Amino acid sequence: MAYNEIPARQEAGASPDVLVVGGGPAGSTISTLLAERGYDVVLLEKSHHPRFHIGESLLPMNLPLFDRLGVSEQVASIGMIKYGAEFVSPDHDETSLFEFGQALDKSFPYSYEVRRSELDEILFKNAIAKGARAHEGCDVKRIEFPPGARARVVSQLEDGQIREWHPRFVVDASGRDTLLANQFGIKRRNRKHASASVFGHFTGAERRTGNQEGNISLFWFEHGWFWYIPLRDGSVSVGVVCWPYYMKSRKTGVEQFFFDTIALCPPLAARLQAAKLVSPVTATGNFSYASERCSGPKHIMIGDAFAFIDPVFSSGVLLAMNSAFSGADAVDECLKNPATATRTLKEFDQTSRYGLKIFSWIIYRMTTPAMRNMFMRPSNKFRLQETLLSVLAGDLYRDTPIRSRLLIFKIVYYLMSIRMLGKSYGAWRRRKHSIKNIAFESTAP
Ligand SMILES: Cc1cc2nc3c(=O)[nH]c(=O)nc-3n(C[C@H](O)[C@H](O)[C@H](O)COP(=O)(O)OP(=O)(O)OC[C@H]3O[C@@H](n4cnc5c(N)ncnc54)[C@H](O)[C@@H]3O)c2cc1C
Repeated sequence: MAYNEIPARQEAGASPDVLVVGGGPAGSTISTLLAERGYDVVLLEKSHHPRFHIGESLLPMNLPLFDRLGVSEQVASIGMIKYGAEFVSPDHDETSLFEFGQALDKSFPYSYEVRRSELDEILFKNAIAKGARAHEGCDVKRIEFPPGARARVVSQLEDGQIREWHPRFVVDASGRDTLLANQFGIKRRNRKHASASVFGHFTGAERRTGNQEGNISLFWFEHGWFWYIPLRDGSVSVGVVCWPYYMKSRKTGVEQFFFDTIALCPPLAARLQAAKLVSPVTATGNFSYASERCSGPKHIMIGDAFAFIDPVFSSGVLLAMNSAFSGADAVDECLKNPATATRTLKEFDQTSRYGLKIFSWIIYRMTTPAMRNMFMRPSNKFRLQETLLSVLAGDLYRDTPIRSRLLIFKIVYYLMSIRMLGKSYGAWRRRKHSIKNIAFESTAP
């Protein structure tokens, strides 16, 4: 029987102020913040924590957010301290080390690498502790917004039962499932950037020592880039993000393809020489997208439910949590002053796009020789390196003078590109070719 043919169960408590779909970092954060403000919040999660999730490297600016949620100590107890990022390029002899302590604001010198199963469980349990009514194993199937009435949310429990909810406001934090964007047909693939990923976990890999042990390493190679994230239990998370044309060339199983791809990047292969794969290898299809809008009458979309960009700067969890903080203010304001909701949601839309735009501007230019040089031979003339570090730290939302500094960064980038015009044009053509023919879809291991 299809879920929409099963009679729905109505229970006491089925009409909360706010219903949040998805208990990842975005959904748990906004549930915590709204419950703290006294709202009756229902949080629905289709799986059960702890559950696996990729995306293990955090940014320094996650830390003040953990503080405000009251989970700093818990996160510290599961995290591997990350002081910076190492970049390795096939076109440069030296590796390049970025340390967050050298950013424009030097007071947030580190972040963490975490197992997301652990981090997400901490955030989810915190939402419950702060008063949100959470239900796991509850899959939201459809949301309707009848004019002049409360929203109607249809969910299905694991035993097949249907439950209906009638909240005043809905927050879609369903991650890459993009529940509302799919339902409305407004999800758009990012035409300027397309990639796919394959990843797994290893033990016995070569790790850095001392303060550098927890640093993320990023290795560029011909078809994209690899991450190498050391975790607290001694294992490392390794993944490749590559262009779809390369993924389409796969003729073997995903695991063999992963190993063959690692072999194309000798510095990474050297670190994994004695390593043993201890997880299934997972592939995920082309994943850069955005929804046309992130709000509408009685609803907002936050985190990956709105947009997803290439994870090269480990920005996903920070952007998701930030959108939950600004989303909480927007929902609060809409519920208190429905007459000004349109304006409130417009401002929320602008805030949501702001961080995405800054990261995307650099990501789209990452393959150009000028940007590569700015990463691999960083200079602090005009405070360029400090500026880049502030972006890498996620310091986009505070008083740090990031906008004016970024303007200078962009001018220098364009001047350098003009100086290397021939090479820049070649890189532009290669990138255009790489983006073409995007057809890779999600694959099971
Ligand atoms: C290959 C790859 C590497 C990445 N690396 C990093 C990294 O190093 N650092 C980083 O910060 N980010 C990284 N990210 C991005 C990061 O994982 C996401 O940006 C982040 O998880 C977004 O949080 P979220 O809460 O929006 O979504 P999610 O964390 O995906 O949470 C969404 C939740 O909603 C639930 N859900 C979905 N649909 C429904 C439904 N219908 N009903 C009920 N529940 C539902 C899901 O089960 C899930 O628990 C990476 C992503 C990828 C793909």
